[in-house]
Amino acid sequence: MTTTHASPTWTPERIETLLALPLPELMWQAQQTHRAHFDPTEVQLSSLLSIKTGGCPEDCGYCPQSAHHEAGVKADKLMDPDLVLANAQAAKDAGASRFCMGAAWREPKDRDIDKVAAIVEGVKAMGLETCMTLGMLNAQQAQRLADAGLDYYNHNLDTSPEFYGNIITTRTYQERLDTLQVVREAGMHVCCGGIVGMGESRRDRAGLLAQLAGLDPYPESVPINSLVRVAGTPLEQAPDLDPFEFVRTVAAARITMPKAWVRLSAGRKELGDGIQALCFLAGANSIFYGDTLLVTGNADVDADRALFTRLGLHAASDGAATQAAQPQAAPAQTRIPIQPAA
Ligand code: SF4
Repeated sequence: MTTTHASPTWTPERIETLLALPLPELMWQAQQTHRAHFDPTEVQLSSLLSIKTGGCPEDCGYCPQSAHHEAGVKADKLMDPDLVLANAQAAKDAGASRFCMGAAWREPKDRDIDKVAAIVEGVKAMGLETCMTLGMLNAQQAQRLADAGLDYYNHNLDTSPEFYGNIITTRTYQERLDTLQVVREAGMHVCCGGIVGMGESRRDRAGLLAQLAGLDPYPESVPINSLVRVAGTPLEQAPDLDPFEFVRTVAAARITMPKAWVRLSAGRKELGDGIQALCFLAGANSIFYGDTLLVTGNADVDADRALFTRLGLHAASDGAATQAAQPQAAPAQTRIPIQPAA
């Protein structure tokens, strides 16, 4: 049975009410929250590299790396460590402050942990923050990675507990929560978010945010992905979602997790400059930066630089990232949504 983490402050019902506010009201609340904790012109840049691509035994319906789907992604072995380090240096030179590495595993084997721990040490030595997403971890593996200096571990909840079974059948929600728990206990920061646009309802988006905000403490880093409909995956034909629903989700993430880095992740390129700008106004303050996001395209670096210039945004310094990565449980006193639209 899944142990739900919905906080007493941010219930799914309350977040659903928040999501339904008139957009100007929702944005105003999100902006006030954002400005209370961050410089609203500052955006943290993370770069993501797939260090082990394809052939994953899990069946996540959105993912081209799943061996269950026919998306044409070739299964590779773990990348040569020197190549990983060369990519990390290039990301740093391009302005990234955090280097995220992803491996398409259900869970790493202990011998894999030794290899990736050495990679973490090498990337840390460059002065970059490090993040990994390797699938489920046990407590010993989490501690080994923490001891190697891994700053963040990414493990997404993806969607609400109620909708989850429509998307993934090979890993339970509870297994995800268990991995997040051992990551916390090992002393690492948590990066955890979800995906919008998989055919879920607004209530499901509220349910996801309630789970995230209910983690104690809530994640330091919250990636909000917009589904990229990849040919050959079960979600290839997922219905269109009004992009303002994505903006609303970002705003509600900001309000419910005030000190988190709220990151625009997969699907950012497809959102276009206008919706991205609205997301920054709604409190998004981190992006994945670089040409590829695991195996789907990302907004290219030149386009990002041009957008930042047009919007007057700038990259967050390392110090800002470290300083802000100290979330607390949701405050007892929070703004009551007013004038719900529905
Ligand atoms: S999302 Fe991760 S766990 Fe799921 S199929 Fe893709 S690589 Fe595997």
